[in-house]
Amino acid sequence: MGHEELLRRYQSEGRSRAAAAAEGAVAAPALHTVVITCMDARIDVATLFGLHPGDAHVLRNAGGVLTEDVLRSLTISQRKLGTREVLLVQHSGCGLATFTDDEFSDELATDVGMRPPWRAGTFTDPVASVRRGMARISRDPFLLKDTVVRGFVLDIQGFGLDEVQPEPSAADS
Ligand SMILES: [Zn+2]
Repeated sequence: MGHEELLRRYQSEGRSRAAAAAEGAVAAPALHTVVITCMDARIDVATLFGLHPGDAHVLRNAGGVLTEDVLRSLTISQRKLGTREVLLVQHSGCGLATFTDDEFSDELATDVGMRPPWRAGTFTDPVASVRRGMARISRDPFLLKDTVVRGFVLDIQGFGLDEVQPEPSAADS
């Protein structure tokens, strides 16, 4: 079982390595930055950006989309732990491009007899989805007005990052 394997790794070296790595780090991220990205198991955020414990907050979900809960965590990160910058990273080959919100909702309704209260947040074009996410952050009333947001699409093969420019309308509003 997967959880047994993970607990075995924790016992053998995970605990001691994690404690040693976090020694001296404080809860407020030293780089004042939040990374929002997909839960895709291939993306090692710490390796990709050279993150050490104490450096940044990392918020992950299916797709790296700006759900209510990501906005909740981002607001707490800014207001209580001093972050000011956001790196939004979605990627090519994302599972969220393989079905639609309606299809997933229908699938669940067929299986369990009711629709979920949330949308899956699927997308066909990660560039457009990153742009939507950046706009969502810039118009959120609870986030700080001087929040610096940069958006990227990660190539899941070569791990190249392509920067996404925000919609002019979103930046002006
Ligand atoms: Zn993904």
